[in-house]
Amino acid sequence: MGRTPPVLKSLRRKLGKSKILNTPETGVVYSSDVNWRGNPPLAVIFPECAEDVSVAVRIAAECGTPVSTRGAGTGMSGGAVPSNGAIVLSMVRMKRIRILEDEKIAVVEPGVITAKLQTEALKRNLFYPSDPSSYKICTIGGNIAENAGGLRCLKYGVTADFVLGTEFINPEGDLIAAGCFTDYDSPVDITPLLCGSEGTLGIIVKAALRLIDAPQAHLTMRAEFTTAIEAAKAVTAILNSRYSPCIMEMIDRQTLKAVTSFIKLDISPKTGAVLLIEYDEEADINRELGDKTSQLCRRFGATGLRIAESEEERENLWKLRRSISPSLTRLASGKINEDVAVPRGRIAELMSFVEALSAELNMPIPTYGHAGDGNMHVNFIFQKEDPAQVEAACQGVKKVFTEVIKMGGTISGEHGIGLAKRDFLPMQLNPVNMTLQTDVKRCFDPGTLFNPDKMLPPREVSSKHPA
Ligand SMILES: Cc1cc2nc3c(=O)[nH]c(=O)nc-3n(C[C@H](O)[C@H](O)[C@H](O)COP(=O)(O)OP(=O)(O)OC[C@H]3O[C@@H](n4cnc5c(N)ncnc54)[C@H](O)[C@@H]3O)c2cc1C
Repeated sequence: MGRTPPVLKSLRRKLGKSKILNTPETGVVYSSDVNWRGNPPLAVIFPECAEDVSVAVRIAAECGTPVSTRGAGTGMSGGAVPSNGAIVLSMVRMKRIRILEDEKIAVVEPGVITAKLQTEALKRNLFYPSDPSSYKICTIGGNIAENAGGLRCLKYGVTADFVLGTEFINPEGDLIAAGCFTDYDSPVDITPLLCGSEGTLGIIVKAALRLIDAPQAHLTMRAEFTTAIEAAKAVTAILNSRYSPCIMEMIDRQTLKAVTSFIKLDISPKTGAVLLIEYDEEADINRELGDKTSQLCRRFGATGLRIAESEEERENLWKLRRSISPSLTRLASGKINEDVAVPRGRIAELMSFVEALSAELNMPIPTYGHAGDGNMHVNFIFQKEDPAQVEAACQGVKKVFTEVIKMGGTISGEHGIGLAKRDFLPMQLNPVNMTLQTDVKRCFDPGTLFNPDKMLPPREVSSKHPA
């Protein structure tokens, strides 16, 4: 038995044993997110209130122990993976929700599951639109820290568009209020800086979220095309028509093939791409928009069109989208899922580029995603036991990044930078911007206590541009 590290002794003394776990099993479970695995944490702390977070952070700072914060661990870029020698703060026990109906505001703790907030809001005929596909398991803290997008952000915007204020713990263990939690007009609202900060600037312990009136009706439709290029052109045309769907998802041929080998779908085998579109206006407006969208899709070559006539049919149409992630995971031992985004008028170009790359690498690259936002998930599928395939996939990723930047797009549409894209960030940001990002981190967290290895390359590299 090794000696108990001083940080653990202090944490046990101040927080009590029931809030701390450091068994080998917890180490394994809490050392990864969906895509990334790191070393087991020194211990996992389960704070139950802001004061617990403050105490844990103070002790960690005194002992020079890094802190990695964790929501549900559904992140895809390594943000919740413990930094070397870190303690993990798991926020899952902080899950109180208070809804101020008259104000249309929800005041929540960070461990609240996104779907739970949506359900609570709906009970009052209110709506929290932010809906990452992982909404049934991910947390509000993780959504804010990743500035999560989702299906409906085409119409409603990303998580940051709903955050009115936060309270967070800084590396000294102090509670800082931002946005609507301040009782005076602070000169600069620092709330937006916390959105997308990936656990590197502060630990969010409370958030105020804007709610809107719940939509009263939905119309969901599926359009089938022969090629992804046709579908992509239809996306641009629908957006230019100002019909404002709340959701517009695109699924390419390779993704469809993976899903149909996993579940039974009523879809022609000749289909080369699918658009799933949803409107959430008044029922008669939805119907009119559905008809107009069908006409537009036909003009761009749609071979099959289906409009859900019941809630059961709507569920059936969405089943295709929900089955993508598990289907792709079954294809091979290795999968790299990149969430690039391009200007919406250039999705067809991106799809052509990916198809050509798939042929060049002789590797499946199923591609799907939030086409209405230009945010596409490009998945490299390979056998991870084969070094040549791993190398080819990594080269492919770099080619995609280079291409989307050339198109005026971004290397991460929603999954964040974390460990996954840290070393690629200088491809996207110029040296001045990189320095600014480093300065923001230094200003919030001068001792690099929070997620020290995430998002930004090590200091000496960050001012260099690879080009
Ligand atoms: C099947 C599937 C579908 C997905 N679909 C989408 C999608 O449509 N859109 C999208 O944007 N993402 C999507 N994701 C990615 C992921 O679900 C989101 O990034 C989500 O916001 C992460 O929430 P989480 O609670 O799991 O956070 P975690 O993964 O635990 O943490 C994510 C980051 O947030 C930080 N963090 C967590 N809590 C706090 C806090 N209280 N204070 C400060 N930092 C904190 C962590 O340190 C880490 O950097 C998907 C993931 C899966 C598995």
